[in-house]
Amino acid sequence: MLEVEEALAKVLERTRAIPPVQTALGPAALGRVLSESVASDLDSPPFAKSLMDGYAVRSADAANPVTLAVIEEVAAGATPTRALGPGQATRVMTGAPVPTGADAVIPHEQTELTGDTVQLRRAVKAGEFVLGRGREMAAGEVVVPAGTVMTPTVIGLLAAVGRTVVVAHSAARLAVLVTGDELIEAPGVPGPGQIRNSNGPMLTAQATRAGAQARYLGIAGDERDGLRELIRAGLESADLVVLSGGVSAGKYDFVPDVLRDLGVESHFHKIRMKPGKPLFYGTHDQTPVFGLPGNPVSSFVGFELFVRPALRKLGGQAIPGPVFVPMPLAADFAANNDRPTYAPAWLEATPSGLRVRPAPWFGSADLRGLARADALIRLPSGPVSYPAGHIVATMSVN
Ligand code: AMP
Ligand code: MG
Repeated sequence: MLEVEEALAKVLERTRAIPPVQTALGPAALGRVLSESVASDLDSPPFAKSLMDGYAVRSADAANPVTLAVIEEVAAGATPTRALGPGQATRVMTGAPVPTGADAVIPHEQTELTGDTVQLRRAVKAGEFVLGRGREMAAGEVVVPAGTVMTPTVIGLLAAVGRTVVVAHSAARLAVLVTGDELIEAPGVPGPGQIRNSNGPMLTAQATRAGAQARYLGIAGDERDGLRELIRAGLESADLVVLSGGVSAGKYDFVPDVLRDLGVESHFHKIRMKPGKPLFYGTHDQTPVFGLPGNPVSSFVGFELFVRPALRKLGGQAIPGPVFVPMPLAADFAANNDRPTYAPAWLEATPSGLRVRPAPWFGSADLRGLARADALIRLPSGPVSYPAGHIVATMSVN
């Protein structure tokens, strides 16, 4: 049986970033990955700029706390009209250009203004509180390399260099469908043998959180024709299709068969992990198709470990994850699993740093136990008995 790492490698080696398109720098750009390198179109700052409200001075005059003649006041957006001569100072506001001749600014709190002279309360060194022309970036210099994720600060920087449109990978379109004759949608009240569908809303939300454009296609019964039509609808409209349920070896588990009928090439169908050993992965042309086990916790973990990295790769991210970080346990912990296990846990902030606490949890059907968690810890197969403080591999799923 495949190990998680081998399975993930199989997924990622087949997943290609979706082609980039012209993207407006609006809210939809957030989290998208740039596929062009963007250079500044100007020197920034475009002039030597004051970083403080204060007085622009010549540091040569101000090696001692001296008194200078104030010759002018320059607000942000205005331009100095007079060069600074010996013994002179110009009142400047934050963001204003400093006059020719000045090489430093002293904050006004450290001065005393009397009439049109200003007394400096301390000596001033060259360069203080002045940002020279082009110091932040020079015209023609690449300031955002291709591959950068558009965070709010990157979006601000792109605007600062004049961009309203960039070339970026668009969000992957993901279709979710769930299978099972026993499923009904909330707010319906389950009849005998029925349960409510939690995976549809959960997986759709996971996909949205992972930056995808998620579309929920509904419930397919455990019957080949309906299942085939719904999957076909997913394959026609999405860059990635996720199904839940019907992937194990039960009598009514038709998903793998129907996928094969539709021309989906199977790459694996079982992984040595807990929860969720049966997990189908195949491709239809280039489109990845995942069949996750129906138990909610198995679905959730399968999505985070395999689907989310595939979505990130489709979206052009260089590091698709999942990322595990070493984290000390908040409490003693013992377990005995017959497969490598990804157990729900939550992160706690303590005075000595973050700790991870395994959540009380009753297995792969226990969505309530999982809902308190914001992390997964990776445990090896076999018995483990860890003291508090023991380091475990932890993945944030927030
Ligand atoms: P399956 O993988 O289809 O064998 O389903 C395994 C278990 O998960 C069964 O108890 C199902 O009733 C349950 N299950 C399957 N799909 C869902 C769903 N969408 N929401 C909640 N539970 C589900
Ligand atoms: Mg089922």
